[in-house]
Amino acid sequence: MDIIKPEDNPKKSVINWASLRENRAKYEAMKWTDLPPIEKNFYKESSRTASMSREEVELWRKENNNIICDDLKEGEKRCIPNPVCKFEDVFEHYPDIMANIRKVGFQKPTPIQSQAWPIILQGIDLIGIAQTGTGKTLAYLMPGFIHLTSQPISKGQRGGPGMLVLTPTRELALQVEAECSKYTYKGIKSICIYGGGDRKGQIDVVTKGVDIVIATPGRLNDLQMNNFINLKSITYLVLDEADRMLDMGFEPQIMKILIDVRPDRQTVMTSATWPDGVRRLAKSYLKNPMIVYVGTLDLAAVNTVEQRVVVIAEEEKRAFMQYFIDSMKPKDKVIIFVGKKLTADDLASDLGLQGIPVQSLHGNREQCDREQALDDFKKGKVRILVATDLASRGLDVHDITHVFNFDFPRNIEEYVHRVGRTGRAGRTGEAVTLVTKSNWRVASELIEILERTNQVRIHLTGGKKKSKQQQQQKKPTQNKTETRVVR
Ligand code: AMP
Repeated sequence: MDIIKPEDNPKKSVINWASLRENRAKYEAMKWTDLPPIEKNFYKESSRTASMSREEVELWRKENNNIICDDLKEGEKRCIPNPVCKFEDVFEHYPDIMANIRKVGFQKPTPIQSQAWPIILQGIDLIGIAQTGTGKTLAYLMPGFIHLTSQPISKGQRGGPGMLVLTPTRELALQVEAECSKYTYKGIKSICIYGGGDRKGQIDVVTKGVDIVIATPGRLNDLQMNNFINLKSITYLVLDEADRMLDMGFEPQIMKILIDVRPDRQTVMTSATWPDGVRRLAKSYLKNPMIVYVGTLDLAAVNTVEQRVVVIAEEEKRAFMQYFIDSMKPKDKVIIFVGKKLTADDLASDLGLQGIPVQSLHGNREQCDREQALDDFKKGKVRILVATDLASRGLDVHDITHVFNFDFPRNIEEYVHRVGRTGRAGRTGEAVTLVTKSNWRVASELIEILERTNQVRIHLTGGKKKSKQQQQQKKPTQNKTETRVVR
């Protein structure tokens, strides 16, 4: 058999990979030519911040949720800026921002804000590993406002939105938008784009011109594919709750969305945890970032919440929940977390039949019903919300006093997120978790979290060998199945 070499067979075209690759790079470069320059550095360090000694900075970080910072740039490391202890130290030259802060009455920056603001405002990419309810939204929003309004080109010349916030759930997207609209700044307009919302209405707003797009990846990708939105004008990108976005399988959509966002943008990423997947995402989409960890490195555990664990038989769970609800005080507000949508409906209708005002939140409910449920709960029309893990992250209702884990969460990360629904913005809260025999496999991880969050005395009844410390405890008295974890 004759072997015809490609060069001997003029009819057969040969793929020239080298030239294709070269062309691709050329077209890629062409895609980003003629874009206006980006201004990124707006930070003027105050004399008070600059005068902090190394020891003062270290002490401050230790005393503020044990903040740890690192520069992930390869090669020579940059200096991590000192934290800002007062709002004036960072926003002195932005009176409108200061006026907004005064209006809402915040006393001082939260730890993540103190450390993140000087980094982001210098134009450096940032990864914030922060527990829920730490003020992470304003940590990226405020510098975003300044970035947006301080570009060398006008809003009209930009030709599209300047800032994009990607979030894993509609609820978080709506919440970020609410936070955004609260701090009106120089007429900045924002829009929330999420699946289940009014698609036509969203397209109308986007095409009329907005500054900030807050979106879930699925719907944004849909609008992008159909050319309803121009992402080339984005210069400030936020990937909010990156770990959750990965858990929900959004990586392919994020990849497609980011193909159209200019590569020289500034990027901020937040995540409650720092697993391999999130590290990979950070490597792909951030450039020479700095990282700020608030709390522990792997699991940002909530330490403003008293956590009680109740070891109980499956068939006794309902009675215990009823007992819990009957003992609620008038000002108490609780989220009851369950594993299945059906259980959520079942428990909610049970309570409803007893005449107890209740709402439920899960993925099978229509978007408008979900929004109504949240609104009722936020405004206190109902003080009990039965929810699946849809509500475990990001939801920010200030006055939740209790989290009741009717079903144990799928994993320990979810436990941390659920517990973080209470004890927010400086308040304390209480979490009650029912644990059955089938949940034993996570018991050791749970104990670790409880110990790490200073829930030091642990009683576990129910057949597991007790530690020396546990054996020294007095037996729990009133309720044989109850396990109290006392701080
Ligand atoms: P987040 O972690 O972004 O969900 O924020 C949790 C809550 O803390 C939000 O309701 C914010 O309005 C509030 N918050 C943000 N920054 C501060 C601050 N510096 N002081 C007090 N509360 C704040």
